[in-house]
Amino acid sequence: MNFLEERIVKDGIITEGNVLKVDSFLNHQMDIELFDQIGAEFKRRFEGKPINKILTIEASGIGIACVAAQHFKVPVVFAKKTQSINLEGEMYVAEVESFTHRCKNQVIVSQKFLSEEDHVLIIDDFLANGCALQGLIQIVQAAGATVEGIGIVIEKGFQAGGSIIRNLGYQLESLAIVDAMDEKTGTFVFREQK
Ligand code: 5GP
Repeated sequence: MNFLEERIVKDGIITEGNVLKVDSFLNHQMDIELFDQIGAEFKRRFEGKPINKILTIEASGIGIACVAAQHFKVPVVFAKKTQSINLEGEMYVAEVESFTHRCKNQVIVSQKFLSEEDHVLIIDDFLANGCALQGLIQIVQAAGATVEGIGIVIEKGFQAGGSIIRNLGYQLESLAIVDAMDEKTGTFVFREQK
């Protein structure tokens, strides 16, 4: 088991509806030393890629992306989920269905912060059905920028997102892939990775 799988086994809680709660270290309280290890591992997995920007989505992706960005020495742009008066000018907009909140959101990035010169690493906390990622990919494409890779902290391998995104040809690196989890026994099966 890698460092993240060990932490999931120790502190992850499996709840109804195949939701994995990791809010003691990832989604609510944040373990910054763990985030730093996550950032270093993303850096290792995307070594050699000409990444000049990290794109994530609010809210849970932001902390992870910011700590990872210190390893890449690049800025972070996060997609906003609501229109706000602070958003001015032209925007890229994509529609995203939320797995945890079971509703549709628009995700929005100002055109000022993403252009065809950008080589983007997309980062997020979870990959389930892949809707959030597809929204972010659409935004990168709308900007004419390049997706250099996608870094996910926890992929739920028993949901479709991972295979959809890999079939689109992207380098998708998930630091832990949960292939099965059992609410009754609290046990996990992780996919073997190199
Ligand atoms: P997707 O769009 O891939 O279906 O879902 C991705 C988003 O849903 C993630 O950004 C994450 O916020 C949330 N999500 C999906 N599954 C889980 C889960 O099991 N636990 C938690 N904490 N969040 C999840």
